[in-house]
Amino acid sequence: MKKYIMALDQGTTSCRSILFDHDGQIVCVAQKEFPQIYPQPGWVEHDPMEIWNTQLFVALESMRKAGAVASEIAAIGITNQRETTVVWDRETGLPVSNAIVWQCRRTAERIDELRDVVTKTGEAQTTDIRLFDYIHQTTGLIPDAYFSASKIEWILNHTDGAREKAEAGKLLFGTIDTWLIWNLTKGRVHATDRSNASRTMLYDIEKGRWDPKLLEVFRIPEGMLPDVKPSGAHYGVTDAGLFGEEIPICSAVGDQQSALFGHCCFAAGDVKNTYGTGCFLLMHTGEKKTLSEKGLLTTIAATTDDTILYALEGSVFAAGAAIQWLQKGLRLFEDAKETEAMALSVEDTDGVYVVPAFTGLGAPHWDPYARGTVVGITRGCTREHFVRATLESIAYQTKDILDVMLTESGASLEGLLVDGGVTKNRFLMQFQADIMGVPVIRPDNAEATAQGAAYLAGLTAGFWEDQNELKSLQGNRMRYEPKMDQETKNKLLYDWNRALERAKNWAEQ
Ligand code: ADP
Repeated sequence: MKKYIMALDQGTTSCRSILFDHDGQIVCVAQKEFPQIYPQPGWVEHDPMEIWNTQLFVALESMRKAGAVASEIAAIGITNQRETTVVWDRETGLPVSNAIVWQCRRTAERIDELRDVVTKTGEAQTTDIRLFDYIHQTTGLIPDAYFSASKIEWILNHTDGAREKAEAGKLLFGTIDTWLIWNLTKGRVHATDRSNASRTMLYDIEKGRWDPKLLEVFRIPEGMLPDVKPSGAHYGVTDAGLFGEEIPICSAVGDQQSALFGHCCFAAGDVKNTYGTGCFLLMHTGEKKTLSEKGLLTTIAATTDDTILYALEGSVFAAGAAIQWLQKGLRLFEDAKETEAMALSVEDTDGVYVVPAFTGLGAPHWDPYARGTVVGITRGCTREHFVRATLESIAYQTKDILDVMLTESGASLEGLLVDGGVTKNRFLMQFQADIMGVPVIRPDNAEATAQGAAYLAGLTAGFWEDQNELKSLQGNRMRYEPKMDQETKNKLLYDWNRALERAKNWAEQ
């Protein structure tokens, strides 16, 4: 009797395993952190063996907690931190180096070198095109050190003997989903899904294949690359020795696309925002590949079949990070949860605007030289006004991205689905609805990321019937309806935009 779907949620700082029952309810969660490795300023690594051991440990732990045996688990679904890069030996299964984590900036100069490169394109390879534009058109991404391509190249160039071995077909590359699948199947399966492939900066998101020109640019032998499947698909079965019996692996999906699916955003125009340290907004655009002119990324959304569906993605760099700055940097309160009452204790921000551009501004403003700014302070400004203005800045930044998404996709918005730690703040969720003029909807059980992987695996394994059944599993949701009058909204947005102008172009090049 199959009772559970096991979601393995491999994040940047911890591994989790969550068992879901047939009603889509969480039966139990096991979680364990693993070490972050910072060899130099700006560099971030993970030990791939540590990740695998930690993930296996929490998987077993979740079974122990629930009193579950392998035969009761219908399928495993995997969701993972995206872009993080592992290279390992096909024979021994051992990594040739630590994993280079998505945040790592070590290849930023390499990407800069490519900025002025011109290449050929078109059927006959006769038309000149900037390589940066070629990358954007082919992969949907804006060239950056963030994505896997330059990280793989770095490992091949800087690990003894790695390039020769890779060319002899002895090394394999994978994002973390691929690394976990390889280990779960004891080296029998080397595969990834399209949502993860679309973050490598090597994958043609329209043709659905690794792009030969980009493999050449980054000098990556094609033989290292995994097979690419839909997110919900039969990947293989776990080695019987791990859990006592084989369990089918039925999904792999990057964390943000997983959260989009977990919110049941299946159709064009559906949008979710995950509010953590930063915010990640994704809008489903269906079969339409929309390329942004304002700095949003185009990425592949999760499916359980061969159709390729797309999403637009934008991120707010500082969301929870701004709250942490008030707490730890300015010591304005002890616990983030105090911010709600503080914000509600004043009527407004008394004209104060905080622009938390600590590391510059992202889409749609794109100004790496912008810095944090506070404007509009008068003698009446208190701690509470300051806290409220910082919370509001998260909503303004979200709105700025959403506006671009709506313009560029031509979609209309019925509601914004939300999850993540910051969404516990009811003041902010109401303000978000007010400033956008559309409802904000927060599921009580805000585990969208793990839910997405579980839903995809459950559909593939036949544990759940179809998308309608998944929608019926979504429990209670809190709905915040917009209440603000247009005049107040216009005034606030006008001043927010003036504050943004003052934050821009501050740091000197
Ligand atoms: P991440 O996955 O990026 O670590 P989480 O989803 O766990 O982030 O959210 C953590 C963030 O949420 C922290 O930055 C914390 O300051 C913020 N946070 C937690 N509770 C509240 C609250 N009630 N109001 C505002 N921010 C909150």
